[in-house]
This record gives sequence, C-alpha cells and structure tokens, in this order.
Amino acid sequence: MMKTDVHEMLIDLDKKHFIHPTSSLKQQNESGAPFIFTSGDGVYLTDTSGQKVLEGMASLWNVNVGYGRKELAEAAYDQMTKLAFTNSFSSMSNEPAIRLASKLAELAPGNLNAVFFTSGGSESNDTAYKLARYYWKLKGHAEKKKIISQKKGYHGVNIGATSATGISPFHSLTNSHAPDFVHVATFSLDSLRECIQKEGANHIAAFITEPVQGAGGVNIAPDGYLQEVRKICDENNILLIVDEVITGFGRTGKMFACEHYGVTPDLMLFAKGVTSGYIPLGGVMVTDTIHQELIDLSEGVLLHGYTYSGHATACAVGLKNIEIIENENLVENSRMMGEELLNGFKSLQMEFDFIGEVRTLGLIGAIEMVNPETNNRFDTLIAPRVSAEAAKRGLIVRTVGFEGMDTVVFSPPLIINKQEIHELISILREALIAVQKGL
Ligand code: PLP
Repeated sequence: MMKTDVHEMLIDLDKKHFIHPTSSLKQQNESGAPFIFTSGDGVYLTDTSGQKVLEGMASLWNVNVGYGRKELAEAAYDQMTKLAFTNSFSSMSNEPAIRLASKLAELAPGNLNAVFFTSGGSESNDTAYKLARYYWKLKGHAEKKKIISQKKGYHGVNIGATSATGISPFHSLTNSHAPDFVHVATFSLDSLRECIQKEGANHIAAFITEPVQGAGGVNIAPDGYLQEVRKICDENNILLIVDEVITGFGRTGKMFACEHYGVTPDLMLFAKGVTSGYIPLGGVMVTDTIHQELIDLSEGVLLHGYTYSGHATACAVGLKNIEIIENENLVENSRMMGEELLNGFKSLQMEFDFIGEVRTLGLIGAIEMVNPETNNRFDTLIAPRVSAEAAKRGLIVRTVGFEGMDTVVFSPPLIINKQEIHELISILREALIAVQKGL
C-alpha cells in the first residue's frame, strides 16, 4: 500500500469508529482528522503523509520531556517484564509506587508529603473533593461540603471536575451537575470573600484554584493573590486545593507553580507532566497534617480507590521521567526558554496591531487577538484562523475562544531550545501575516 492509501484508509476508519474527545464530531465526519501522527522525536511529530510539525503545545500541555524518549520505554519495559501491575487496595503495595510517592514528597513544597495516586487530572480532582469533604466529616463538620472554584478554571470532565470547571460551554453537554459547587470571579479576592460570606464558611470544604489557568486561556495569578487566598482559607477553616495538573513538573519555570508564590496548599493535584504523557498517571498530595488527621480519625476502610491507583508501570515511568527532568535541568530550561518565547511574542506584538496582551510564565504562554479599532474582541474569532494557518505551516498550537477570550495558547515541550523557539515564532509570524491579509 502507498503511504497515501494508508492515510486514506486510516481517515476512513477513524471517521467510522473513533469518537474523538473534545472534538467537533461533525467536522471530523466531514473533513477527517487533520493529522494522524505516527512518530515523534524531540519537539517534532510526523504524520502519515510524512509532514513534520513542531509541537507548540507538548500535545495537551503534558509531553514535557519531548517525544521519542527511549529511557521511558525501557523503564516501562523493565517494570512490565518484572511486574506490570498489582493492585494497591487493602494496603498492598509495590516498589515503584512507594519510590515515586517518596520522590514526590521530596519535590513538593512544604509538608505535602503523602500521595493518593490516580490515572489523570479529572480523577485527581474528584479525589480531592471527596478527601476534603471526608476530612471535615471526620472532624465533626459534615456540613462543610461546598467546593468553591473559579470562573475560567478547568478541572476536567468527570461529574465532579466538570462541576468545578468554570468554563460554561463545558456545562452544556448535560444540564445536570453535582450539587455544592460554587464559582467565583477569576483571581478576585473580593469575590472569594463575598462568596464565603454568602455561603457561610461552615458550609465550605475547600477552595480550588490553578496558579495559572491553562485551558481557560493561560491566565496567570497576579502576585500576592495566592498568598492572600492562603490567609483567607486559614482564617475561615477552608482547605486550599491547588490544581497543578498543567503547571506541575517544570511547566512554569519552577517544579510546581505554587512555589512562585511561596504558598503550600493543603492538597495539591498533579497528572500530565508526571509521566510526560508516556503513560496515564495523576495524584493528590496532602500535607502531613491532613494525612495524620485522616489516619487518626478514620475508622474502617477509606472507600475510595481506582483499580490503577499506584500502577507499578505508570509509577516506574513517572520516576524515570522525573529523573530526566532533574538530570537535564528542564525546570531551568523552561524558565530560560520562557523568556525567549516572551521576547518572540513581544516582537510579534510590535509588528501586528491585532495582538493585544501577551503573557508567559516559563513555557506556558498566550497571545490575545484584539480588534485595534475597538480594543475589544473581533466579531468573529481570529485565534482559530491563526492556529489553522500555523498548522498548515507545520506548527501546532491551541486556541481558547470562550468566556470572552480570543486567544492562542502555547506550551511547548520543556526540552525546546533557542533555535526551535525561533522556528516557532517564525512560523507563527507567517501564520499571522496570512491572517492579517484576511482582516
Ligand atoms: N486540571 C487541569 C488544570 C487541567 O488542565 C486538566 C486537563 O487539561 C485536568 C485537570 C483534567 O485532567 P485529565 O484530562 O487528565 O483528566
């Protein structure tokens, strides 16, 4: 079969059998998958037609160590041939899960020293909400149930995580959500205080925030915000949950983004970058204090556990992935290349009058599309055009077009070098020129 025949055949089978997540089913059915990738190396992916593209998103903000890392395949192979999986229920354990849990305790800020493993970010969120409520119940405050989250926050797609997500289109799939979830304005201390006043601290279990909102358009918590939130939570006996699913493992130029603010949450969620997407894994870290209270106060079995909590192979890959991040100084590279990315964005901002705000923290960034005549959003979204033109030229980026945003977002692998950043900016520039002609 010719390569193109294989491509056509796969497109056909894809349309018939593969329901894609977070995708336009109509568009897929009409025009087929834009890319069917077959291999990856470093910051590049290659598809069935042989086209090579620069991954400006590290897939879904997660392939931090880049593609084609044989060490991770070997770690999985070694573990699978020894012991691929054994469950962790009834306090049974396995070596990679123990070692990864203690490594995470070493890396996480403050006294976040104990881990509950999951298989991803949504599961980590639902686990955190349940643990927070369970904690208060054990302490004799079963009425402290509400979870406060932020508008534009994204926490995943399970019923609980969807309910905490503050991006309204994600609520449109079904109109039935979990009770006891309340949203406040993005990074607004006043809105949080008003909410606590209205709902009553005695009914609130936890407040959850991303230090940098990813899917909501790369919105960075302003200096001082998280520190104040920490105080407000302490004053009101509300647990602070920080969702580091995107921001963890070097994405923002620190190992965890809450380090930028010097804040230790009570619960910290991770997923994505812990294995750089080579295998699904996530988790919830809790402080020694919470861990000890759970031990002291709980009776019987903690009736919450996923079959794959503490999956031996996933944990072995996680350990190797963290070793790569440390050995190759990828956290520092994220910080330095993030500055390079910001410089690139600033030069584009000077050149194109329809680029509004640009922002980065390490290797997560965004550029806003703004109508220079009105200083508001264009009547039709521009960011998707930019991303389509970029894809034609071999650069993958994502866009955010809800909640008043018209934004192109970026999150390249943390291994990206200066030359590759310049290539990213240069392709983006060509895409912007093409879009400018149609404005
Ligand atoms: N939390 C945040 C901040 C995320 O960005 C995501 C996914 O993008 C999730 C949670 C959900 O993670 P998953 O897709 O692994 O369930």
